[in-house]
Amino acid sequence: EEEIPEDHPRYQDLLTRHRIENGIEAGITHLQGMHAEGRGSAFDYLLGEETIPSADDAERAAAAHLLLAERPVLSINGNVAALVPGEMAALADATGAALEVNLFNRTPERIEAIAEHLQDHGADDVKGLEADARIPNLDHKRAKVDADGIYAADVVLVPLEDGDRAEALDEMGKTEIVIDLNPLSRSPQVADVPIVDNIIRAVPNITDHARELADADEAGLREIIEAFDRDRALEAAEKRIRSGDL
Ligand code: ATP
Ligand code: MG
Repeated sequence: EEEIPEDHPRYQDLLTRHRIENGIEAGITHLQGMHAEGRGSAFDYLLGEETIPSADDAERAAAAHLLLAERPVLSINGNVAALVPGEMAALADATGAALEVNLFNRTPERIEAIAEHLQDHGADDVKGLEADARIPNLDHKRAKVDADGIYAADVVLVPLEDGDRAEALDEMGKTEIVIDLNPLSRSPQVADVPIVDNIIRAVPNITDHARELADADEAGLREIIEAFDRDRALEAAEKRIRSGDL
């Protein structure tokens, strides 16, 4: 891998791009993941490449939801696996959530490569290989999930998720946490907790909140969830992007 000097003003962004390139070379990321990354990078530039206060609120609410859940699941696609494999394993550990590989462009080879990649980064059990249940109202190929994973989950974290699947999961009545840098994309629009932040910053911050809230009681966690206003968070992110005030 080409070395990027750490003092380069675009260090984080270049590092992110390289991780996606490496993911494609390793067979864990689809070529389309590069386009998704490019869109995300443009929004991040406009956000000032930092976690804005409304995103931090959303990340805290996400941690509270995951801690309260009976069956929390973190969904992993090719970009997520390339960018934050160890961080997702750490979040699963901090919240007791399961990890499930769930791909838009699904092949058995990629699913297995991603599961292995996650395990190399500290994940225990990785779901998504069974694919023995279907999300209703989605075409067959996109609908496959594990019966004891996303299908049965009460709370799902779906980073960088496709809009159709985010809507279908919402219709199943799940509490949906979405990480997406574009506040106007359909996935954050249907989310109970839309996190408009780069996944690279968002996931470790959710984990920090979860560790800090580990001893909180149920009432305390519910209070955090209730205080979070999804529409306000989406508006704050859009306002920040449009205003250009950093
Ligand atoms: P649609 O409107 O149909 O959902 P889209 O432009 O959102 O189209 P997708 O491939 O569904 O395309 O989603 C990719 C999304 O992921 C984009 O909204 C992009 O901003 C976001 N994204 C890309 N990289 C990151 C990242 N590192 N962190 C957070 N979000 C990201
Ligand atoms: Mg989208």
